[in-house]
Amino acid sequence: KKEQLQLLAEVEAVTRDGERLTLAANISSFKELETSLKHGAQGVGLFRTEFLYMDRSEFPSEEEQFEVYRRIAERTNGQSVVIRTLDIGGDKQLDYLSLPEEDNPFLGYRAIRISLDRHDLFLTQLRAILRASAFGDVKIMYPMISSVDEVRQAKELLRRAMIQLDERGEAYNPDIPVGIMIEVPAAAAIADLLAEEVDFFSIGTNDLVQYVLAVDRMNEQIAHMYHPYHPAVLRMLRMTANAARERGIEVSVCGEMAGDERAIPIWLELGVGKLSMSPQSLLRVKHRILNTTASEAREAGRECFKLGRSGEIERLLSEYVTPVV
Ligand code: PEP
Ligand code: MG
Repeated sequence: KKEQLQLLAEVEAVTRDGERLTLAANISSFKELETSLKHGAQGVGLFRTEFLYMDRSEFPSEEEQFEVYRRIAERTNGQSVVIRTLDIGGDKQLDYLSLPEEDNPFLGYRAIRISLDRHDLFLTQLRAILRASAFGDVKIMYPMISSVDEVRQAKELLRRAMIQLDERGEAYNPDIPVGIMIEVPAAAAIADLLAEEVDFFSIGTNDLVQYVLAVDRMNEQIAHMYHPYHPAVLRMLRMTANAARERGIEVSVCGEMAGDERAIPIWLELGVGKLSMSPQSLLRVKHRILNTTASEAREAGRECFKLGRSGEIERLLSEYVTPVV
């Protein structure tokens, strides 16, 4: 079975009736990039840079970051690489950045909130990413965005980083695409406004589900309440996808849901054409897409939006995804 799946690495992800999807990889290291390329990933849809900052005693320098980003950009041979800026805080801590103890770390000082507060750290990372953009199709993405103001501040700092590089005579792509994660309910609710500000959205379902349902994604005791197929989550997905379509910007999904075959009818119905997932999920999801008829799947997807309970939606989708023999 594994060998058979491996044969699909070079095959395009196209449904039986000819609809093409892009399958990219979520990675946090160079090693994972190699695995994803072996599994036929079409670029990197999410590079979690926090792992560059973890398990060490000080912040990585611009040079150090640049080397990693450049290597990844070069290795993906012209396919796009979405580099997400530091998403620390919440469950991820740094020994050398003493963050205050918080009662609610997931609602606290994390991700873009830290970056917009610590310009020194943010500008260093932005310069490193910009410099890598001279070596491949690099895109930049901000995590945990919840307002238009945050996007504007981040864009202003990106301009500042560009000026700093100009002063040093360093090369970069001045038109580097800028996108945001949609993973806070507020962002989904104002997706139409945010779509005016950026080049692409990537839906982070891991956090989005946690915040929409107020269910801690790490808490075992309430794990049974963590429902990616809750109607409230689907509505958030729809709002986001509609806003992207109306504004003509790309929308992809990079949470765990992207690697769940059951969700394919939802993506087809919403017009989400790009899925980014862990390298281990790529071939399995592709196999499912190759065995899917988009027109039928879309109908199942549409039905999901009429159902009021997670269980019903999951059942419908599971029945739709009959095991492929
Ligand atoms: C997400 O929240 O869905 C996501 C992809 O980001 P992370 O899992 O790194 O929080
Ligand atoms: Mg997240």
